[in-house]
Amino acid sequence: TEPDPTLRADRLPDDDRALRPQSLDDFTGQEEARANLRVFVESARRRGEAMDHVLFHGPPGLGKTTLAQIMAKELGVGFRMTSGPVLAKAGDLAAILTNLEAHDVLFIDEIHRLNPVVEEILYPALEDFELDLVIGEGPAARTVRIELQPFTLVGATTRLGLLTTPLRDRFGIPTRLNFYTTDELDKIVARGARLAGIDADPKGTAEIAKRARGTPRIAGRLLRRVIDFAVVEGNGRLTQEIADSALTRLGVDELGLDGADRRYLKLIAENYHGGPVGIETVAAALAEPRDALEEVIEPFLLQQGLIARTPRGRMLAHKGWTHLGLQPPRPDTF
Ligand code: ADP
Repeated sequence: TEPDPTLRADRLPDDDRALRPQSLDDFTGQEEARANLRVFVESARRRGEAMDHVLFHGPPGLGKTTLAQIMAKELGVGFRMTSGPVLAKAGDLAAILTNLEAHDVLFIDEIHRLNPVVEEILYPALEDFELDLVIGEGPAARTVRIELQPFTLVGATTRLGLLTTPLRDRFGIPTRLNFYTTDELDKIVARGARLAGIDADPKGTAEIAKRARGTPRIAGRLLRRVIDFAVVEGNGRLTQEIADSALTRLGVDELGLDGADRRYLKLIAENYHGGPVGIETVAAALAEPRDALEEVIEPFLLQQGLIARTPRGRMLAHKGWTHLGLQPPRPDTF
């Protein structure tokens, strides 16, 4: 038999599980998205129907997977999880869809990376809960229609622009997730420290929050490293001093930028006089895939006003120069 391409929710990496909130009330931040989801969940429950399909988009680590799991819990339905690149053949998706129970939540991560053949069979499944499968090959091939249980698709993507229009149009509830504020991250870090049984100073958690790149996943990762330093080099207490020295040793600067972020900024400053420079050129010079730059590195640098995207390419902004400790070469640099 074929391996089941559905990744089970209980096989998520351990370190992620500790911090994962279990309900909409537990979930910090994303106020607008949360308030709307609460209404849609409640309405679906009262009507006894499957909730409309949801698309989460935004940078990695902001809580797309977590919210999908929470929705299933709040709806009181089953949760199945897979990802775009894993679904190689139409049959892979068909196997998952035909196994769904009524009103289940199916989560497809990286949905912009679905194979077009697979995407094609998803359309009628989303619209009419029907599956048109081609059985056999050549002249003997015929189409069979299979009825599916009504379900909710929750798609997640870091690249909304790469979704085809027909797929995007089939989501009734498109939801953008934004970077978190320092206060929100502070709450998340403090909660994480509490769950880890660590005594944490408010200034210690605030230091981690400030340097977490607006991203809960990074906050969780930094918290675990700072705890290591607190245990081994401190007296087990998470203080601002320990947090600052640990994060500096890990190469995370006061804005939360890491080595890869600074390499990106330095390249544009030193090799291209601040730009504009095309993304392909930057990718080649840094030996990084373009996708990684656009999905992981650039969104935060843009949000922080360190760089700008212009029709002629990327440019270092005034704040980018000063963050590197350099003088902008032109007085008119924005
Ligand atoms: P995404 O799917 O957007 O990449 P995840 O849902 O996997 O992000 O979240 C990444 C990590 O951050 C997980 O460990 C999750 O528990 C944690 N996390 C995300 N959002 C929150 C939040 N609002 N509060 C607490 N932890 C969060």
